[in-house]
Amino acid sequence: MMAQYLEIKGRHPGALLFYRMGDFYEMFFEDAVQAASALDIALTKRGKHNGDDIPMCGVPVHAAENYLQTLIRKGFRVAVCEQLEDPSEAKKRGSKSVVKRDVVRLVTPGTLTEDSLLDARRNNYLAAFSVVRDDAALAWVDISTGELCVSECPPVVLGAELARLAPKEVLLNEANIDPLQEIAEEQGCSVSPLAPTSFDSTSASDRLLGQFRVDSLDGFGEFSRAEVSALGAIVAFLELTQKGNMPLLRPPKKQRRGGVLSIDAATRRNLELTRSIAGGRAGSLISVIDRTVTAPGARLLNLRLTSPSTQLSIINSRLDAIEWATSNPAVASALRNVLKGIPDLERAMSRLSLGRGGPRDLSTVKLALINGAELLKTVKNHAPPDQLGRWRKLPDELQKLGVWLEQSLVETPPLLARDGGFIKPEYSGELQEARHLREDGRQIIAQMQSAYSKSTEISALKIKHNNVLGYFVEVTATHAKRMLSEPLSETFIHRQTTANAVRFTTVELSTLETKILNANGRALDIEARIFAELSEAVLEHSNFLGDLSAIIAEFDVATSLADLAVSERWVRPVVSEDRQFKIESGRHPVVEAALKQQNSMFIANSCDLTPDDGAARICLLTGPNMAGKSTFLRQNAIFAILAQLGSFVPAASAQIGVVSQVFSRVGASDDLARGQSTFMVEMVETAAILNQADDRALVILDEIGRGTSTYDGLSIAWATLENLHDVNGCRALFATHYHELTTLSGRLSGLENATVAVKEWEGDVVFLHEVREGAADRSYGVQVAKLAGLPPAVVERARVVLDILEKGDREGGIKPSLLADDLPLFSATPQPPPAPKDEPVKLRLEDINPDQLSPIEALQLIYELKGLLRGGG
Ligand code: ATP
Repeated sequence: MMAQYLEIKGRHPGALLFYRMGDFYEMFFEDAVQAASALDIALTKRGKHNGDDIPMCGVPVHAAENYLQTLIRKGFRVAVCEQLEDPSEAKKRGSKSVVKRDVVRLVTPGTLTEDSLLDARRNNYLAAFSVVRDDAALAWVDISTGELCVSECPPVVLGAELARLAPKEVLLNEANIDPLQEIAEEQGCSVSPLAPTSFDSTSASDRLLGQFRVDSLDGFGEFSRAEVSALGAIVAFLELTQKGNMPLLRPPKKQRRGGVLSIDAATRRNLELTRSIAGGRAGSLISVIDRTVTAPGARLLNLRLTSPSTQLSIINSRLDAIEWATSNPAVASALRNVLKGIPDLERAMSRLSLGRGGPRDLSTVKLALINGAELLKTVKNHAPPDQLGRWRKLPDELQKLGVWLEQSLVETPPLLARDGGFIKPEYSGELQEARHLREDGRQIIAQMQSAYSKSTEISALKIKHNNVLGYFVEVTATHAKRMLSEPLSETFIHRQTTANAVRFTTVELSTLETKILNANGRALDIEARIFAELSEAVLEHSNFLGDLSAIIAEFDVATSLADLAVSERWVRPVVSEDRQFKIESGRHPVVEAALKQQNSMFIANSCDLTPDDGAARICLLTGPNMAGKSTFLRQNAIFAILAQLGSFVPAASAQIGVVSQVFSRVGASDDLARGQSTFMVEMVETAAILNQADDRALVILDEIGRGTSTYDGLSIAWATLENLHDVNGCRALFATHYHELTTLSGRLSGLENATVAVKEWEGDVVFLHEVREGAADRSYGVQVAKLAGLPPAVVERARVVLDILEKGDREGGIKPSLLADDLPLFSATPQPPPAPKDEPVKLRLEDINPDQLSPIEALQLIYELKGLLRGGG
């Protein structure tokens, strides 16, 4: 057995080998050590290898999914090795022969299909990146739904594409894995290197032709060699991991670059589209807009949010669908009730195609067909737009399939086909007969028990069953003697003695047992056959069922976004080919939802970034801390994303000319893992924006230059603003605390100043959150710090420092080296050691040009110098 183990393990060096032994998957050697620690299970030993103990651990087969989940999450790959024959078959070859085993599946993060291992509301992608000469492409597949796509992908945008798709696993050519591996891992993907042969575009093409059973790929679109290579690598990897059981893949769809709104990884993070900065779903945009009630609907919405369109016709048709739902509220609400009853058809189909399906997956297909028919009936007389699917009723084939499934399957079938009990008895006469025999047998056993009890005069005699002995007669130990002596011993053959009981069999009981076993086995065989027939019929209609699933998802997304629009008062945006950007009374959906929970109102704000022809239009926003600048910036970026994913938006009205790229640089964060400081991260992101933003881009810059000294920061912000205006020529929002920048509006024609209003009241600041034209006079940082609970002594001291700095500013600047001496002492802190008395005087004098002093300034200076000598200020 060890020889067999080592041979199989040798073929799967990169994976933990789950070696099936009876009801357990066992692991040995280093695998056992790693798995025991990762799963927190006992590490034992079994036998010896080269004189050393062999470490071993195991997990029960029935609980394997949970363990798999943990291992995959911790970055392991698992090769599942099954017994390929019944142990009795092996015995026939000789008592020492080993049961045939082999790996039936390699479980990796990108090839999961089990519901328990997957997030129902998100796709689970496996991606492959390939470079062929000057071309590069990314292909991706979700084997749990069959969706397969490919797109050109120059290496510079790989990071952004991976951030968009968030694949769990990326296949890379081991011949040119650097620096791609780092890019993929930065986006949280697990990397699987493949040999260059898997990426060879000629064999890739053959592999694809074979997979889709076609003579040419032309029918699916025109693919570059890099695209064919990336698609081929995916198919090669699936062949390797699924061991001959290929999933149901839909024909590859080519995604045009530029067809999707480009959003880089940093912008996605900053705008908190699918996860908040804290990392979870709560607080993200998706958590607020997702009201879908089916898993395919949730996945479709997630896909649209991560990949909004740039194509007007697509955007408008999606908006039409929502408008249809908002104008037919009764139909929409009835639809949502029907949708709620539809389980995940796509994933059930994929499991069936991979031979991993069970009766519940068939039941899912049945429910999808019943409710799908109901859904189409509900909308039949209400002219839904084409976007929601062209079907007006279920195709005949699907209707027939639905009837068949309904006639054959019980209401709530078990998970696994091997347990039986999922086919209605009346469906098959043959099955009914086998089941009767089984049931009859059980009745006969009951009769036999009472007959034995009477003939032995032992009222406590029982006929029981267990997996080791099968059926047996049991009496308590007190009756043992009598049972073991004649005449009873002639009928009752002793099998086992336990602490409290003695067990026997009889010829009659064994004969009956064989009959029951046969009937049971026969019933299970019949059910297995019917299961195979039904699965085959379902898979034969996989194209139709795929379409049905897509229709269900479309209806779900449209009605859920309509529900959101109605209840939250969102409006249809007017999306156009020009470069308009005009939002009336817009609200940030996530901040508004959070404020609502605290019974607070969100203050709506308008924004107009519509440029004159060919020009830039930039709104320069100044205002106090905490006033709502970041919120305003982000909400406007979010409007573009919402509108282009095909959703209504939280505003009184919105006109948006299609945006090609959204960039956002918001807040500061270190990226210590990558060895980059706050300032470095900020500059890298700003550089990316200035290098890439075109005149269709929407750029959000929040407080750039904050991570360095005031003058450096101001200078960088200044130059950046000029570049955005003169070179990039885009629509942009720029928030800053550098009030000096507001003077640029005189020179840059496309620059407008805006500010967020506050009121000062009894020394405190009151936030109005209202964006107005004009520039802010100051930042109110000290007041905000007071609100934040800074110790009063520190707030007081900060006020004093600020006064001096502001006064110095007005009077032509103050030299920082003098500031410390100019200030009155800070009473709440220990006093610093006194500086030599004449030092500040010297420094002050060095700074002075006597020829430029007026008589009165000279006199003031003498007073000041005397003050410095006294150590005052
Ligand atoms: P800082 O300059 O300190 O980064 P900021 O001006 O960017 O601050 P935000 O972070 O946008 O301020 O907003 C601060 C808080 O104010 C938000 O968390 C939110 O609770 C509230 N707020 C922002 N905008 C509004 C609004 N329009 N209506 C109501 N509350 C708002």
